[in-house]
Amino acid sequence: MFIDNQDDQMIIDSLHDFVDKEIMPIQARIQAELNDQRLYYDGDGKEVPAITEARREARMKSAEAGYYTMFCPKEFGGSELGIRLWFLCNESLWHRYGPPATQLPHYILSHFTSGPHEVWAHASPALKAEVIPDLANGRLRGAFGLTEPDAGSDSWMMRTTAVRDGDHWIINGSKQWTSNSPTADFIMVYAVTDRELASQRRGGITCFYVPTSTPGYRLESVIKIFGHLGGNEGILSFTDVRVPDTYRVGEVNRGFDLAMLGVRHGRMANAGRTLGQARWALEKAIDYAKVRRTFGKTLSEHQTIQNYLAECGTKLYAARAMALDCGRKADEGRDVRTEVSMLKLFATRAAFEVIDTSMQIHGAMGFANETHLFEAWCQARMTHVTEGTNEIQLRHIAKNILKGRVDLSFA
Ligand SMILES: Cc1cc2nc3c(=O)[nH]c(=O)nc-3n(C[C@H](O)[C@H](O)[C@H](O)COP(=O)(O)OP(=O)(O)OC[C@H]3O[C@@H](n4cnc5c(N)ncnc54)[C@H](O)[C@@H]3O)c2cc1C
Repeated sequence: MFIDNQDDQMIIDSLHDFVDKEIMPIQARIQAELNDQRLYYDGDGKEVPAITEARREARMKSAEAGYYTMFCPKEFGGSELGIRLWFLCNESLWHRYGPPATQLPHYILSHFTSGPHEVWAHASPALKAEVIPDLANGRLRGAFGLTEPDAGSDSWMMRTTAVRDGDHWIINGSKQWTSNSPTADFIMVYAVTDRELASQRRGGITCFYVPTSTPGYRLESVIKIFGHLGGNEGILSFTDVRVPDTYRVGEVNRGFDLAMLGVRHGRMANAGRTLGQARWALEKAIDYAKVRRTFGKTLSEHQTIQNYLAECGTKLYAARAMALDCGRKADEGRDVRTEVSMLKLFATRAAFEVIDTSMQIHGAMGFANETHLFEAWCQARMTHVTEGTNEIQLRHIAKNILKGRVDLSFA
C-alpha cells in the first residue's frame, strides 16, 4: 500500500491489526447471516438483531481502542485527524476487506450520518451531556434524515415542518431513503422552520435530534434495492413529534449548512470506499487474467485485456491523486467545496468503470456470487446517486467555473 507519510502508514497498519484481532472474531459469529440474506433480514426486511448487536459491539470495541472517533472533535474524546487520512483509512478498509458492504470492518470509523461528528459540536450543552458519551463510545447509532418523497436533489422542497410550541418543537412530515433508520436509536431530522426563507433557498431549515422512541415517530417500511430481501434505508413518518428546544442542533434556520458540512465529509469517505473497492476488484482481475487461458495463452497476454488493465490502473491513479490533493487542501483549511464535488464525480465514475471492467475480465465468473464482484458493482453504482447525485455535482462545478470561483491551475 502506498501511503506517502510514515505516521499515516503506522495508523493504517495498526487499524488493520486491530480489525484482524478484534473485529474479525465478532464477524465470524455472524458469518452465516452475512452469507445468506434469508438469515440476514427478518420478514419486514430489517436486519436481524444479531447483526445490529454485532455492529454495536464492533463500534464499541473500536471506540475503546481509539479508532472510532479518530476523526472527531477532541471535545468528544476524538483525535481530530485530518481529511486526507480520513480518505486513506476508508480506502484501506474497503480495499483490504472488500465486499459485501455489510461486513463489520466497514463500520468501525464514525460517519457523520450515524455517529459522532463535527456537526455535533453545534448541539446544545444539555444535548451534548445527554447523548455524546453513548454516541462516542459507539453504543448509540443514528441516521441522517434529509431526503423526502418530493425533496431529493432539491432538498429545499422538503415538506416536513417543525413549529415552535413554547420551549418545544412539534415535527410533522416524512423522510425516505434514510440509511440505518430501520435499526437507528435516533434520527437527525431536517425540517422547515421558515417557509419563506426555504422557498428563497436562503435558509429556513433546522436540524433536530429525534430519538426513535419518541411518540409519533414511525418506521413505515424498509426500502429493498437490487433484488435484496431487505435493506438499510427506511421510509419514516413524524406525526406531532414533540421535542424540547434543547434537541435542536445548530441555529434556527441554519440546518442546511449543517447538513452540507456532514455531506462534504461523507463524500471524502465515499470516494475512499468506492476507490478501495475498485482496487480490490482490479487486483482480483489481474490475478484472474494471469491464470485464465484462452486461445492458447493467458488473458494477460492478450493486448485488449492489457489495455483494459492499463486503463483501470490509470483511472485509479488519477482519482487517488485527486483525493490526496483535495484532502491536503482541506487539512490546510482551504475551501474545497468544488474540489470535493469534482472528486465525488470523478472517483465514483472511475471506480464504477474499474469494477465493471474487472467483471468483464472475469467473463461469466464476474456475475457469480462467489466472486462478490456484483456486490462491489452495485455499491459503486449507488455512489452515483448517494450524497448528492453526479448530475448535482456537475451543476455545482459548472456554476462555480462560470462564476470564475475555480482556480483552474489547481495550485
Ligand atoms: C442507498 C441510498 C442511501 C441513501 N441514504 C440517504 C440518507 O441516509 N439520508 C438522506 O437524507 N438521503 C439518503 N439517500 C437519498 C439520496 O440523497 C437521494 O436519492 C439523492 O439526493 C437524489 O434524490 P432523488 O433520488 O429523489 O432523485 P431526484 O432528485 O428525483 O433526481 C432524479 C434524477 O434527475 C437528476 N436531476 C435532478 N435535478 C437535476 C438538475 N437540476 N440537473 C440535472 N439533473 C438533475 C438527478 O441527478 C437524478 O439522476 C440515499 C439514497 C440511496 C440510493
